[in-house]
Amino acid sequence: MRAIDLRSDTVTRPTPGMSAAMAAAPLGDDVFGDDPSVNALQEKIAGMLGFEDALFVPTGTQSNLCAILAHCQRGDEYIVGQMQHCYRWEAGGGAVFGSVQPQPINHQTDGTLALEDIEAAVKPDDPHFARTRMLALENTLGGKLLPFDYVEKATALALDKGLTRHLDGARLFNAATAQAAKSGGDVRAEARRIAQCFDSVSVCFSKGLGAPVGSALCGSREFIGRARRVRKMAGGGMRQAGVLAAAATYALDHHIDRLREDHELAGQLARGLAGIEGVIVEQPQTNMLFIDLVGQAREKSKGLIDHLGAQGIQAMGLYRLRFVTHLDVDAQGVARAVTAIRQFLQD
Ligand SMILES: *Cc1c(COP(=O)(O)O)cnc(C)c1O
Repeated sequence: MRAIDLRSDTVTRPTPGMSAAMAAAPLGDDVFGDDPSVNALQEKIAGMLGFEDALFVPTGTQSNLCAILAHCQRGDEYIVGQMQHCYRWEAGGGAVFGSVQPQPINHQTDGTLALEDIEAAVKPDDPHFARTRMLALENTLGGKLLPFDYVEKATALALDKGLTRHLDGARLFNAATAQAAKSGGDVRAEARRIAQCFDSVSVCFSKGLGAPVGSALCGSREFIGRARRVRKMAGGGMRQAGVLAAAATYALDHHIDRLREDHELAGQLARGLAGIEGVIVEQPQTNMLFIDLVGQAREKSKGLIDHLGAQGIQAMGLYRLRFVTHLDVDAQGVARAVTAIRQFLQD
């Protein structure tokens, strides 16, 4: 039986087409700037999102670190949401490596940071305070699409306050896919529309796009120049990285339009789990589904992950579970997961 891994969209393996592209990639030494596959990827993603330049990095974490340190100086601070990756999940890198202080604020239920809260967090120019320098948003956040009119307003407010604006768009193309489904627009045009509200954008190739490794940071030429120095300092200068860049380019060419299928499968999973006693299903907006277990289902929850594991289905969580769809999951797999969860909780 095929294993079904719903823990994250990072678990995908390269498809045969992607592996072939990696094997065929022309290579050079990217630290000397002469890996043609890396250069082609950087040009491609910068062009797609409407930026002058881009930098290929091993991880999204390093991409955000490069952004924080390229935008901010020692003693500066950035406004960020409590649940955002570049505050909560990156081992405090901005503070550790850059002496840059985060100013986290709470999210609204839709994932946004209230405009009043952003405004209140901007410090006056006063020697008591760190210099507020940057606003960081994340889209999608926990699988939620930030409403586009909100993104416009929040980034306009930041500009008005003299802040630079960074987007952690690890799943930017999932956001664009959901936004295009609403607006009837084109996925790539929506990705660009979101990206253009920001001074820099980080995109992961290793999530829903299905590449094994890599992210890109996009911005102005001058900004990317500074980010490149940070990448070197963080040990992220890679040599024949074209092997990896070729996978990312392949993902941009072949895996954007199929993200819609992941979103449909998350919807299928949500419908399948609806109506089970003690299971509260959040309507998924993209490729991520969260369910909460209450009452009797909560009491049983400790055995659920093991029960699924015994059937070759992997998921994460205890009372609140997360299921993520991706290119190695299909409708049959989702149906099997639904059956296994129903069986366990309804027995
Ligand atoms: C996964 C993720 C990252 C970091 O990516 P890594 O490659 O795992 O370091 C950053 N931001 C968000 C929103 C992510 O989901």
